[in-house]
Amino acid sequence: MFEYAPAPESRSVVDIAGSYGLFIDGAFDGGKDGNVFKTVNPATEEVLAEVAAAGPEDVDRAVAAARRAFGPWSALPGAERAKYLFRIARIIQERSRELAVLESLDNGKPIKESRDVDLPLVAAHFFYYAGWADKLAYAGFGPDPRPIGVTGQVIPWNFPLLMLAWKIAPALATGNTVVLKPAETTPLSALFFADVCRQAELPPGVVNIVTGAGDTGAYLVQHPDVNKVAFTGSTEVGREIARAVAGTGKRLTLELGGKAANIVFDDAPIDQAVEGIVNGIFFNQGHVCCAGSRLLVQESVADELLASLKRRMATLRVGDPLDKNTDIGAINSAAQLTRITELSEIGASEGAERWSPECTLPDRGFWFAPTIFTGVTQAHRIAREEIFGPVLSVLTFRTPEEAVAKANNTPYGLSAGIWTEKGSRILAVADKLRAGVVWANTFNKFDPASPFGGYKESGYGREGGRHGLEAYLA
Ligand code: NAP
Ligand code: MG
Repeated sequence: MFEYAPAPESRSVVDIAGSYGLFIDGAFDGGKDGNVFKTVNPATEEVLAEVAAAGPEDVDRAVAAARRAFGPWSALPGAERAKYLFRIARIIQERSRELAVLESLDNGKPIKESRDVDLPLVAAHFFYYAGWADKLAYAGFGPDPRPIGVTGQVIPWNFPLLMLAWKIAPALATGNTVVLKPAETTPLSALFFADVCRQAELPPGVVNIVTGAGDTGAYLVQHPDVNKVAFTGSTEVGREIARAVAGTGKRLTLELGGKAANIVFDDAPIDQAVEGIVNGIFFNQGHVCCAGSRLLVQESVADELLASLKRRMATLRVGDPLDKNTDIGAINSAAQLTRITELSEIGASEGAERWSPECTLPDRGFWFAPTIFTGVTQAHRIAREEIFGPVLSVLTFRTPEEAVAKANNTPYGLSAGIWTEKGSRILAVADKLRAGVVWANTFNKFDPASPFGGYKESGYGREGGRHGLEAYLA
């Protein structure tokens, strides 16, 4: 195997301030009660910045600013709103190198992914919804679709800027205004985005960013003057939010967890499937709600496939997220590392067989080697619970019926994958899978034009595509 020389991206391409305030009504200011928290680089545990923690009064101010901005913003012709969205999309493209480095520093994801996946998709999302802003009357929601009002949006840490784009782009295109809370461990790209809004001369109050922990998110979703709540994160918090907004008349969309089955049939091209499996579970350290975390492989090809998969996993490079050759970066937080470690230990103690390639992990920071478990049964916790890390559970099946039954045997239903040469089998199996997205002979493919969302405990509502407009229209 070749050794790779270090190929680090320069961290000096982005300026990180020592401290950040809240972005309310077009300006940054400190929180009312002066509380702050620190965000770290999970690859080094170095503190990157101190960030204001928004209390109830701050959330109040942000919602009030969004309310004042709503009238004029929603009254603009769609083509005028589109101009701002196109401007934002272009600025993101122009500043994508800075943003990619910032995202990798704050989140721990490999620069290769933030640069080639996250940032292009973020820009594409703004371009896509910019295109809809003046065509809403032709989108199939009646001749004069109306916005809902002030939207409260809460997003997770795994794709900080991409989840922001999924939330903000359709909200603005349809004429709503926004108060968004990024995750506590990854606030920096959202604050950078606030600066992008200023650069684009977006009217003050149309987008407000309130940083803070879970309680800030709770104030926001419970705020009486918020008309629509959009949340991406854990099923547990999603349930809490659903209870909090029940009976208030607020609109709600939830994008929650997943435990996707990636199904490999005996006629699948094995090498291609192995690439898809690796992408499905090791992309973004497995911090992906639609990760292919359960591999279902047909028994007759299981040995061949696993041998190939192990060979491939031994070539994965784990380490410095800013190195352009890195495949697997840092785990986002100490808390997430603990969760992954605990569930993996449970997997071994319940009788599954654990395997990782040899790899040296850095001394500082939060790391977890890519791991697979074989001999997993449907009763094992690692087959049922979302691990949200680079850990794959392998199960086998004999018939297509068994594959479908096992794939659907989960409380979740966000995504699934099918690998087979037969088009008819793809259609027949996809039809029976209870999952919002089904990929065939590929995995983790995203496009702003394609709707994304879950069944069952994976949530409700769709983001992306024409469907994604509906969640923001009255
Ligand atoms: P989480 O707690 O659901 O966090 C998601 C967002 O909600 C964050 O901004 C969080 O703030 C905020 N939040 C927390 N409690 C809240 C509340 N009561 N009301 C309103 N907002 C609240 O997820 P997590 O703790 O980061 O991760 C836990 C597990 O969730 C993971 O192991 C994974 O299984 C799953 N997860 C799924 C996704 C997904 O894309 N579907 C994304 C992330 C995590 P803080 O950041 O300050 O906590
Ligand atoms: Mg961080």
